[in-house]
Amino acid sequence: MTITTDVAIIGGGPAGLTAAATLASRTSARVLVLEREQEAGGIPRHSDHPGYGIRDKRTFTTGPRYARRLVREALDAGASLLTGTMVTSWGEDGSLEITSPRGRECVSASVVVLATGARERPRPARMIPGGRPAGVFTTGELQNKIHLHHQEVGTRAVVVGAELVSWSAVMTLKEAGCRTELLVTRHDRPESYAAFNLGGRAMFRASVATRSRVTQVLGRTRVTGVEIEDLRTGVRRVVECDTVVFTGDWIPDHELARSGGITLDRGTLGPLVDSIGRTDRPGVFAAGNLVHPVDTADVAALGGAHVARAVEKHLDGVAFPEGGAVPIVGAAPFIWVAPGLYQPGLPAPSRGRLETWVSEHVRVPRVTVRQDGRVIARRTIPWPASPGRVFRLPWDLVTNADPTAGSVEISL
Ligand SMILES: Cc1cc2nc3c(=O)[nH]c(=O)nc-3n(C[C@H](O)[C@H](O)[C@H](O)COP(=O)(O)OP(=O)(O)OC[C@H]3O[C@@H](n4cnc5c(N)ncnc54)[C@H](O)[C@@H]3O)c2cc1C
Repeated sequence: MTITTDVAIIGGGPAGLTAAATLASRTSARVLVLEREQEAGGIPRHSDHPGYGIRDKRTFTTGPRYARRLVREALDAGASLLTGTMVTSWGEDGSLEITSPRGRECVSASVVVLATGARERPRPARMIPGGRPAGVFTTGELQNKIHLHHQEVGTRAVVVGAELVSWSAVMTLKEAGCRTELLVTRHDRPESYAAFNLGGRAMFRASVATRSRVTQVLGRTRVTGVEIEDLRTGVRRVVECDTVVFTGDWIPDHELARSGGITLDRGTLGPLVDSIGRTDRPGVFAAGNLVHPVDTADVAALGGAHVARAVEKHLDGVAFPEGGAVPIVGAAPFIWVAPGLYQPGLPAPSRGRLETWVSEHVRVPRVTVRQDGRVIARRTIPWPASPGRVFRLPWDLVTNADPTAGSVEISL
């Protein structure tokens, strides 16, 4: 069977649901959200702590409450939602192939918005030697197990990473009666904001091993400990634990973008997009953590609304400027910059910001923007650049770029 709609949104997280609510409330287009989980809401559904909705809803609520609100708003606006429905591939005619308990079906849509989010790289992808004992999770897996399936974890944990999401893992572990013995980070200082580090250490009595890495996971059937190396001295020691949580180290859920032949950004590894979320596949847009792995849920949601307004114009037949887009790339310590394309004549990206990710802490970042070696902008940013969280830059840093010249390179 083929389901026909005007806009198909793949992924019912904050970005997809907000795009759906925006489009359904502003247009008469049929909007269909396809979500592989039994319930929509994305990561916030199992992230059961406060910290959601600040910028988009002007509130401060828990993940599950925030997720329920986004679902309600999308449905109230007139969007349709198919849960338990995974988009598995693209048909030759550009339709979407979906699999659900109803079997295999097709969705035919004029516009597709990819909002499939990002995930933490699991242990095998991090090349950490040792056995394959039980008790090893990412934060997402841990929170799913505890908050959605009400299962038990161990009693002593080591958390790999010290960014915001790492403290979220520590909080979840505590709720499940599991004490965090140690957080381990390669960096000179914890990546999270100072308030979280100080508050977290005081509240959870967890210490942070900086300039350190996990070199081995120990245990046969169940984790018994991890071996940790001090990167300053090379000295290794064993920390006993029965649970290990790998946090951060994000990768976009980009399989559909790849199988659809969409060009990926070499930095983010998500689809390469311009400031309104257009990919290089006609009629396919992308939003949320898929294009900036990762920012907070409110920023992903506002990004979904931004892309929805561009989709609205696209459906109205507005002709956007084409061709002459200039790639935006980051030099080290930038790991990625999003959006990765500057197309003159298009609106600025969501919130007028370039989102970036850096590999080292820079207390007073002086940003230089060059095109073909020529400096086109220079600015000192009044907030630090820190690994493990998005570093935002004003979009006007790149708007002087010459559309007939080469890539724009941002450096610190
Ligand atoms: C542990 C943790 C704690 C966090 N804490 C906070 C916090 O306190 N405050 C905050 O603002 N942010 C927080 N965040 C970040 C926030 O959750 C994300 O920024 C936000 O969820 C991103 O929204 P998204 O819509 O881009 O992606 P997601 O929320 O990841 O949603 C993507 C959706 O797409 C679906 N999907 C993927 N592929 C397919 C497919 N092929 N077919 C159908 N559906 C598909 C997925 O099932 C998922 O529901 C936290 C994140 C984590 C992991």
